[in-house]
Amino acid sequence: MAVPIVSRAEDFYAPAPPLRPDAWDLIPPAERVIAYLENMEKRGLPRPDGVDPDALLIARVDAGRWVAQCPVCLSAQVVSPADPRFWCVGCQPGVWTTLRFPDDVAAVEGLVAGEPLKARRFWWASDDTAYNRPRPRPPITLKQQAEQDLQNSMRRG
Ligand SMILES: [Zn+2]
Repeated sequence: MAVPIVSRAEDFYAPAPPLRPDAWDLIPPAERVIAYLENMEKRGLPRPDGVDPDALLIARVDAGRWVAQCPVCLSAQVVSPADPRFWCVGCQPGVWTTLRFPDDVAAVEGLVAGEPLKARRFWWASDDTAYNRPRPRPPITLKQQAEQDLQNSMRRG
């Protein structure tokens, strides 16, 4: 199987032997993480019932995977634009959270495909403030830069 440009839940959470490779084909992509964890830990997990009408998470590309991050425990999971739902297997809330993907997923995947190393493929929505990603700084003047450099040199002693 070809390596996807950006992995999705249905690529990432795959059944391990002795399960057949197609054992989870009928499991919706958003629920693959539940099957994966149940298989790894050899125990059942509860299932969410319904969708939180007030919650929305924004999916991003992180190291060549579509991921979303739990706003409570900050753990991340691989997600899928084919099934834009998120349920944190760590917190196990009672309901799903809807995920927002870019309008043109293929365009975003095409954008990051230019990076040959999958682990360096990143993308996030410009309005996604959910985590501490680097943000562009406003430009500063040469005088401000000189003042910052002076302060930094004095701090170093
Ligand atoms: Zn969580």
